[in-house]
Amino acid sequence: MIRGIGTSNGIGIGYVLKVEMPQIDIKHSSVEDAEAEKKRYESVRDRFVEETAEIIESLKKKLDENDKTSLVLKNQIYLIEDVEMNEGILKLIENEHICAEAAVDATCKMYEEIFASMDSELMKQRVADIEDLRHRLIELLSGVRQLDLSKLPPDTVIVAKQLQPSLTAAMDTEHVAGIIAEKGGETSHAAILARALGIPAVLSVRDISQKVSDGDMVIVDGEYGEVFVRPIPKTIEIYKKKRKAYLEKTKELKKYIDRETSTGDGHNVHLSANIGSGDDASKAMESGAEGVGLFRTEYLFMNGVSAPSEEQQFEEYKKAAIICKKGVLTIRTVDISGDKNIPYLGLSKEKNPFLGYRAIRFCLGRVDIFIAQLRAILRASAYGNIRIMIPFVTSLEEITAVKSIVSKIMEDFDRHEISYDREIKIGIMIETPAAALISDVLAREVDFFSIGTNDLTQYTVAVDRGNENVAYLYSVFHPAVIRIIREVIKNAKSAGIEAGMCGEAAANPCMIPLLLSFGLDVFSVSPSVVLETRKNIASWTLKEAGGVTSNVLEMCSEKEISNYLSDYIAEKEER
Ligand code: PEP
Ligand code: MG
Repeated sequence: MIRGIGTSNGIGIGYVLKVEMPQIDIKHSSVEDAEAEKKRYESVRDRFVEETAEIIESLKKKLDENDKTSLVLKNQIYLIEDVEMNEGILKLIENEHICAEAAVDATCKMYEEIFASMDSELMKQRVADIEDLRHRLIELLSGVRQLDLSKLPPDTVIVAKQLQPSLTAAMDTEHVAGIIAEKGGETSHAAILARALGIPAVLSVRDISQKVSDGDMVIVDGEYGEVFVRPIPKTIEIYKKKRKAYLEKTKELKKYIDRETSTGDGHNVHLSANIGSGDDASKAMESGAEGVGLFRTEYLFMNGVSAPSEEQQFEEYKKAAIICKKGVLTIRTVDISGDKNIPYLGLSKEKNPFLGYRAIRFCLGRVDIFIAQLRAILRASAYGNIRIMIPFVTSLEEITAVKSIVSKIMEDFDRHEISYDREIKIGIMIETPAAALISDVLAREVDFFSIGTNDLTQYTVAVDRGNENVAYLYSVFHPAVIRIIREVIKNAKSAGIEAGMCGEAAANPCMIPLLLSFGLDVFSVSPSVVLETRKNIASWTLKEAGGVTSNVLEMCSEKEISNYLSDYIAEKEER
């Protein structure tokens, strides 16, 4: 068995087809007539845009009616139409008199290097989008035939070094049983597309191309990130059963799609989804979520090569608000730095980015960027049920500063008769021990809390959430984290404001009884686990959850708590 990162659930059993991008030799020839070369480039660029739009259209036909995942390819159109990138290519042709192929190659590689050098995994994966764009543009410019996967034999498992998003989008998905690639992760666009198309995928599988030949039988387990090459009959039999069970579970969860979220004894809670773009809002709503509890807006800032304008952001937030209809859309103001650096902001490298110039600290330092975002959010609030959420708060002064900026924007809107929601709610993420410990004070100043357990855990137990060497210490079941969560929810309740959670812990089946019993109002989880979370919540009565929680609160160590909870849940499932 070979391990990688499972990025699209499900089990695929089929036969290998190795896919390699054609190698193109770029002639670094000089051109006499730079104007003619610029025109040649511009016409190919227009064809690229047309072809990408065609792929998007054909992909839309393969997806559910409202699935907007096809728009991940739109990103390539935005990139090539980006003024900076486009002018960079044209200027190279004009000043250096080099051919369009070489100008595209150099410009794209420059952006690839910038993105690749960044700390964030997400940004590194954006490199794949630009590489895809570079390949396809150069193919078009040099007239090389593109790889065609539009007709495939049944039960094909695609094996590639790196899967280009455009290739994933254009393949004969009906006959693809699985995808395996050497590069890419959870947030790569190829992975997002695979999930939308329901194709099991395992990425980041080291040297897989060397380990298989065309026609080899393979099993792809997209949930556990496992690949079996030339499996023995016993393994095939086991995985056929697992595939059947997976399909049955998916079908069973569908029953929860239109249900209210409530415990077995009728205590209602709210179940929202976490999203990263305006288009994701439809994924959230289709997943059965009742709204959006976290819109991570930093992705809007990471995808481009310059900051999104107020207008672009307004369109994005408005789109999401309209998709959410009456459901709440909680927009988190940009949380950058830390693990999410952005090249065009020119921020200096910090020794401790997680303790540095991050999120609200950055926004209050770069008010130009913050004001543009708040204006966009406020303008969009005229179109739906939008709320503002501030990340990484550590002090009361930060909240006062945000509220003062929001009031000034509102006064300006009133003067210019710009519509917005006057009653817009402002909430904060509780993701630092500082905010948690003064949550009684902060609760008087804001409309809601959302506990960000991903960060709250790392800051409480002093464990970098991305450091493999100390990963064994990173646990939301540490008694300190459990106590701090209980305290925050208690303080929210005493102040009469909503207590929500948008960190990963909200979907953790072992955490659910504790959260229910502490009185959490809103669970915000990834769209892929909305139905499972609704089912898990329904499996508890408040009485049973209360009993489990009392036992947990008596316990002194992480091990004791996590063992007790996982044993309890395992027994509960067998009952
Ligand atoms: C969190 O910290 O729990 C959270 C939801 O924010 P992010 O994962 O984006 O840091
Ligand atoms: Mg966080």
